[in-house]
Amino acid sequence: MPDSPATLRRRIRVTGTVQGVGFRPFVYRQAVALGLAGFVRNDSAGVLVEVEGSADRVGTLCRLLVDEAPPLARVTGVDAITIEPLGGSGGFHIEHSAEDGSPAAPVSVDTATCAECLAEVDDPADRRYRYPFTNCTNCGPRYTIVRSVPYDRPATTMAGFTMCPACQQEYDDPADRRFHAQPNACPVCGPRLAWLDQGGRAQARGPEAMDAAARALREGAILAVKGIGGFHLATDATDVTAVAELRRRKARDDKPFAVMVSNLDQARRLCLMDPASEAALVSARRPVVLVPKRSAPGERGEDDLAPGVAPGLPELGLLLAYTPLHHLLIKAVGRPLVMTSGNLSDDPIAHTDEDAVGRLSGLVDGFLTHDRPIHIRCDDSVLRVTPPSEVGDGPTSRRQVLRRSRGFAPEPLALPAQARRQVLAVGAELKSTVSVAKARTLVTSHHIGDLEHLANYRAFLQAVDHLCHLYGVVPEVVAHDLHPEYLSTKLALDLDLPTWPVQHHHAHIASCLAEHRRTEAVLGLAFDGLGMGTDGTLWGGEYLVADLGGFTRVGNLAPVALPGGAGAIRQPWRMALSWARASLGADQALRLGLGMDRRAADVLALVESGSGPVTTSVGRLFDAVAALVGVRSAVTYEGQAAIELEALASSVSKDETPAYPVDRGWTDGRLVLDPRPLVASVVTELERGVPPSGVAAGFHRGLAEGAVSVAVELASLHGLDTVALSGGVFQNARLSSLMESGLRARGLDVLVHQDVPPNDGGISVGQAAIAALGPHR
Ligand SMILES: [Zn+2]
Ligand SMILES: [Zn+2]
Repeated sequence: MPDSPATLRRRIRVTGTVQGVGFRPFVYRQAVALGLAGFVRNDSAGVLVEVEGSADRVGTLCRLLVDEAPPLARVTGVDAITIEPLGGSGGFHIEHSAEDGSPAAPVSVDTATCAECLAEVDDPADRRYRYPFTNCTNCGPRYTIVRSVPYDRPATTMAGFTMCPACQQEYDDPADRRFHAQPNACPVCGPRLAWLDQGGRAQARGPEAMDAAARALREGAILAVKGIGGFHLATDATDVTAVAELRRRKARDDKPFAVMVSNLDQARRLCLMDPASEAALVSARRPVVLVPKRSAPGERGEDDLAPGVAPGLPELGLLLAYTPLHHLLIKAVGRPLVMTSGNLSDDPIAHTDEDAVGRLSGLVDGFLTHDRPIHIRCDDSVLRVTPPSEVGDGPTSRRQVLRRSRGFAPEPLALPAQARRQVLAVGAELKSTVSVAKARTLVTSHHIGDLEHLANYRAFLQAVDHLCHLYGVVPEVVAHDLHPEYLSTKLALDLDLPTWPVQHHHAHIASCLAEHRRTEAVLGLAFDGLGMGTDGTLWGGEYLVADLGGFTRVGNLAPVALPGGAGAIRQPWRMALSWARASLGADQALRLGLGMDRRAADVLALVESGSGPVTTSVGRLFDAVAALVGVRSAVTYEGQAAIELEALASSVSKDETPAYPVDRGWTDGRLVLDPRPLVASVVTELERGVPPSGVAAGFHRGLAEGAVSVAVELASLHGLDTVALSGGVFQNARLSSLMESGLRARGLDVLVHQDVPPNDGGISVGQAAIAALGPHR
């Protein structure tokens, strides 16, 4: 490369996720290799570089900043200006972080242990042999240990550990993989394991703690294991007794447990893996991936999981070990491990030792913990990958994130336009998240949980503070749900800020628009559980003509009584009675003897009186049909009946099943999807002796075709060619793919969620996008 004689100096501003990802050492190495002078430093806006040298080489460096950025970096902007050269030959150096201004630079996500670090952990000759906290610039904890920004060791929970000379040398050496790796540590100077008994008393430390924990797990114990974002409850996933005991202690009847495996081979022995799911499983984000179980007719082999791990479901949530601690533990136990959130029922995941011992000592036989504090708790993320053949959308498979937390948070989403104001959005009530928006950036917190639990509410307040602090957001408005009883709404109204109420289903559709960076109006289909409508009734099957500025409700599912209000959620038989009455009349409904409860007649009388609440919820329609088909009449976790109804249909081909009919008609200027004939078919088909699996399949197909036909008519009427699908019902892969392919076959463009959850975990995203980009109000 010929040198240009002209010397110039440029100041380069790099934005995006560029702190805590090895960006400064990367710039250093490139600049030194090019013989450039200058410096690089982190500051509140990202990374600032000044370089001086020949124009060619300065230009090369600018290009490399994007093209060759380190694996964990997400560069969203490189802006360079030319400034006066300083002359001289000061060389190139890394400057300490400037502390000016409000922090605005994104923090990196927590990242699975890289192959090089794992190789060291496995090498008896390496000084990090069997060290559970091995990490480097390319891997390790980030978001969960960051207290403040700029991201430097003193701003993390590693501040209390002083590096030994060997670690310091790595940290200072630009050629080393651990150059400026903030959590750098080794057995001499870093965090240590501890093994605590049931009462929280330390019994062993270091490698002996690991041995004690592995021994206990092999003997069927249930342990609390501290990882990156909190404690898991762990037990041998092949041990029938241990898994049953874990369910009993955790007071968790049916909700499936995730299973951690050590490698892909182990995953393939348990589940039917496809290449896309395997790629997701081994990705640095290391989510829980939902994959079909290997059906194992006949006897259970030695490797097989206990049936209690995911009862009644064809899918299993698998994840790969993502820290050296997990790798070492699972290798020592030699079997897959149940790894479920360290909490009782739906409390927040425990993340400090005191909290864990206080809340979990009655649940576990011992604790494997360590002394690296977790600043922000962060549950495992959950996703599913849909194979390409399912959606008729070209050769690419698609991921759908169902819980966006560790490995994803707090990775920002780029807004489709400049925010008009700084926003805090507090989300809904279940699967709570919070989001902030500022400039071109929208950032969503980790998964917080269900706010009806007081402890989760405290975690929610912490998340609000932390996110605003990290991103230097000073909210000018707070966006919230219309539901007056949500704790998030109450908090929003208590803040001394202008409020921006956002209708629940508008927020769902807006979250899908924001994810796809769309600003034009679409036809939004929001199918979910229950959300407060603008008319004070509970919506959940809505057709909205919507953009980020507002919406018009142009269609909906026919309303029916919601007997018992929120109580109906836990008892799907109530919805079955309501829909059966609407479809077949009260006498017939009662004669079905839904077998549910002696209170059936009372409930029916309540419905007949017409005095109770009504709903247009598709989620509740799923509940009703699940109860009619006999899947279940009561649930122990949200969405359980619908999930099991989908599972029941899984043995029947999607397309070779009859579509049960629906009606449609106009009411108050809206096109109404009326599923009464569909519900009637469910009843008569069952009476005719059609197996429940076939009825479940016929219901899915009938609902999908009916919903598509209403969408097609509304899209044409309003001159729209794009449909957005959002809401918790679209976690149902069967319904989603039937509807998506149906809409595409009718020539419509379809937007579906990939990175933002379709469930209420995405509500704060939609609220934030609306309040950031919407017109003033
Ligand atoms: Zn590494
Ligand atoms: Zn060290």
